[in-house]
Amino acid sequence: MESNMIFQDYESEVQSYSRSFPVVFTTAKDCTLTDESGKEYIDFLAGAGSLNYGHNNDTLKNALIDYIQQDGVSHGLDMHTRAKAEFLETFRDLILKPRNLDHKVMFTGPTGANSVEAALKLARKVTGRHNVVSFTNGFHGCTLGALAATGNCHHRNGAGQALSGVTRMPYDGYLGENFDTLELFRKMLSDNSSGMDIPAAVIVEIVQGEGGLNTASGEWLQQLSLLCKEHGILFIADDIQAGCGRTGTFFSFDPFDIKPDIITLSKSLSGYGLPFAITLLNRQLDIWKPGEHNGTFRGNNHAFVTATRALKTYWADEKFASHIHARSEQLKHRLNQICDSHPQLYRKGRGLMQGICCPFGEMADEITSACFKHQLIIETSGPEGEVVKCFPPLTISEQQLDEGLNIIERAFADYFEMIEPLKKAS
Ligand SMILES: *Cc1c(COP(=O)(O)O)cnc(C)c1O
Repeated sequence: MESNMIFQDYESEVQSYSRSFPVVFTTAKDCTLTDESGKEYIDFLAGAGSLNYGHNNDTLKNALIDYIQQDGVSHGLDMHTRAKAEFLETFRDLILKPRNLDHKVMFTGPTGANSVEAALKLARKVTGRHNVVSFTNGFHGCTLGALAATGNCHHRNGAGQALSGVTRMPYDGYLGENFDTLELFRKMLSDNSSGMDIPAAVIVEIVQGEGGLNTASGEWLQQLSLLCKEHGILFIADDIQAGCGRTGTFFSFDPFDIKPDIITLSKSLSGYGLPFAITLLNRQLDIWKPGEHNGTFRGNNHAFVTATRALKTYWADEKFASHIHARSEQLKHRLNQICDSHPQLYRKGRGLMQGICCPFGEMADEITSACFKHQLIIETSGPEGEVVKCFPPLTISEQQLDEGLNIIERAFADYFEMIEPLKKAS
């Protein structure tokens, strides 16, 4: 108990995830977290997508321990190190070259928001335009530039100043299934009197993680990409959450034959939960002056070491992608079963970022709280927190995924069993 009071007394009220899981965790291995009473929890949150390869993944851990034992450089500003060279070579050979992407790698500060800030700055600098288009329900981070591009009013209200320089457009599906939301954007771009300044860039998530697991179709993305080309607008794919394998391929846009001009990556890039972010920019866009965008923590060499090992272990062949595919199908099947038994619910998302949309946020909250009582860590997303969001490490076994899903299935069954008699009685 003593150790719980310290958080109440001294940690800022800004804390968020800790409120949903009010225990003190001590150790973590693969897809399991352990609290100080020795209770084990299956982890369907995975550091909000920062632990795609699980907690303390042995292969990555050993690479890191070896590197530390040899007194490898730990912090290097942006100086050239062997660890950084190996990361760049591996990223070139396993990720960029096979996709014919001629992008350069910019090491930004270590958070996702930092990578987004760099992307937005560069797009504005290259085009000489100030406006950026982002999409409804998009989430791009909480620093002011990235926050301006973020939709969620809870986060926006924290800014304390005007968030400017961004025009919002409706994301794919925002106005219902049969409505082509790009029509509006297309029309506004062609009308001199639409009131929208031609943007420097669009910034878009291929699957919206925080926004409620909304997915953009390949056709919508291709049309958006074409529209950008017509008007000299840069296409920024924010792959911070949906990238690094979350949807089944390394980049979430891999199946769609689009080539974003700029790509942001962070969260699971280090593979070990170590802070690390990069911004990939098309070679012609690299007009930065030395040090123009700077930062002290752009050289987390420990993260370079684990990132390199993660790429070599999981992305050198198709094995891991087919594992993710099998687990995604399993997840889809089980979630569909749950939704079939309760017609108020429906499934959203793709890959290992799928969830169940509840009719309202309080219900999703009750479900995730019940899951926690049964030792499953899972969060909600979406504008009202109405989506129960399954985000297990990608390395999860068939059996453990089923165990977690059993808990979710039971939480929904219990909820409806409790609610139905109440409804009849009233
Ligand atoms: C998490 C996230 C960010 C921000 O990353 P931070 O490390 O929290 O700053 C940006 N974009 C997307 C899509 C994210 O999911």
